[in-house]
Order: sequence, then structure tokens, then C-alpha cells
Amino acid sequence: MQQTNFLEEERLPTIRVCALHAFAYCPRLFYLEEVEELYTQDAAVFAGRRLHEEIEVQEDGQWEDLYLEDELLGLRGRVDALRKRDGQLIPYEHKRGRSHRDENNQPQPWESDRLQILAYCCLLEVTKGITITEGRIRYHSDNVLLHVPLDDAGRKLVRDSIKAARELRASNYRPPVIENEYLCSRCSLSPVCLPEEARLAHNKEWQPKRLFPADDERQVLHVLEPGTRVGRTGEQLKITHKDQTQERVSILQVSQLVLHSFSQLSTQALHFLAGNDIGIHFISGGGRAM
Ligand code: SF4
Repeated sequence: MQQTNFLEEERLPTIRVCALHAFAYCPRLFYLEEVEELYTQDAAVFAGRRLHEEIEVQEDGQWEDLYLEDELLGLRGRVDALRKRDGQLIPYEHKRGRSHRDENNQPQPWESDRLQILAYCCLLEVTKGITITEGRIRYHSDNVLLHVPLDDAGRKLVRDSIKAARELRASNYRPPVIENEYLCSRCSLSPVCLPEEARLAHNKEWQPKRLFPADDERQVLHVLEPGTRVGRTGEQLKITHKDQTQERVSILQVSQLVLHSFSQLSTQALHFLAGNDIGIHFISGGGRAM
């Protein structure tokens, strides 16, 4: 009977290492992505990808990457930074952010990052038939390199996490929002998950925090005087009044441009604004939006 269960488990689709990372970060995040197939990508996700590309360019040829999958372990993933040190193969994980600090202010890996690098170590072991002694995580914001040893407790943690993740993937139960609100503020899926709304629904006294969109400190620029011309000069908008006096406004300060009555916008400025995702609104003298 046990053998049958084992074989059935063996046939289950493997879990991605990055999904295991999500599982350790927040089970609800794992469920939304893996079961409900809801994915969003915020600026932090793209910044993380850029970091990997920059490392590849800066250290051309020094890193290897490998796609690995093992059905028996139930795991698959791409080890995207692999190095040989003192004859040992060591997987690295690069993180854009900061390391966790313990009560003595010593840098430590975040639990989800630790599980991720241990999972890569286990994948390498079982697919290559070699012993991996450690993985390493570099946190770029505080420039910390951490060694994460792989021991039997680490191997068990990986196997137990894969089992728990598979069980959650097979269930119809979407986990509740996580208690640690700090994690939500850094979660790319918060616009889909709506954790603050869920907390408010369960607790009318809850004071929701704004998680998205990020506060926009740019201003809406209104051009009120008829006959004003708006053009572009470098990275600025050049506003020429009817009496030929000029003002310049950095594009970084503008979120929307509203042109009232008979003001004009040059083609260059129009392209410039559109290219920077800045909305352009035309309002007639009678107040009608055009
Ligand atoms: S927003 Fe919070 S509760 Fe929702 S998936 Fe992300 S971490 Fe989990």
C-alpha cells in the first residue's frame, strides 16, 4: 500500500523551487500563484531580474546555470548561479534586498531564502549524485554573503516543505492572509490578494494601510491660459505663454497634463509625455473633456 502511495506521489507534477520559496514566504501567495494561477509582476520583480542580468554581464563566464528536475524529490528549478570553490560545487542565490538581522544584529538569511537555497542544494545532490555541503546567499543591499550549510535537518526541511506544498496545491482551501503585515507590504501579489481589505472585513476596527499604488508625489500640471504652447526641451516641458515668457518643468514632477481651452501641445511633447506614461487631457473652454 505504501509502495502504491509512493508511486502515485512520484507521478505528481514537481514543484518549482521558486514556488517553494513562495510557500515559505506565505502559503496564500503559493496558493494564489500555483493553484489559482494569478501572477503579477511589480517593480521589485523586474529589479531582481535586472540584478541577475547585471551579475551575468559583470562576471561574464564565471557562472554556470543549470535546469534540474527530479520526480522522486518532487522538485524542479534553475540554479542560476553555480560556482566551484575548493573542489566543491556551490549554488548561489542573489537577492537585491537586505538580510534578516537576529536579536544580536547579526545577518541571517530570511527563512524563505534559506529554504530556497537548500532546495537547490538538494536538487543538485539528487540529480548529480554528489554531496553538496552548502549554498550561499548574497544580499546586495547590505552587501552580505551568507553560507547556508546543508545537513540532514536541511534535507528534511526541504522534503517536508515539498510534501506540505503538494498537499496545499491539491486542496480547495485558499489560506487566509498572513499575520505578518510587513510581508504583505513587500508582496507582488498584494493588488490581487487585497490583504488589508480582508483584514478590514474580519475586523471593523482595522486601520488599513495603503499598499498600492505607491504614493505618487508628482503633480497634475494644468495649463489654463489660452494661447499657451507646451513643447519639449531635453527632459523638461517648456511652457511658452502668450507674452513669450517661458517656464520649464521637469518631466519627473508631472503625473498628468491638463490643457484648458486653446492651448497647444507640440508633437515632440506629445510623444515625450506618452513615452513616460503621463496622461494628457484636453478641456474645452466650456469645461468639456475632449
Ligand atoms: S499580500 Fe500578504 S497575505 Fe497576500 S499573498 Fe502576499 S504576503 Fe500573503
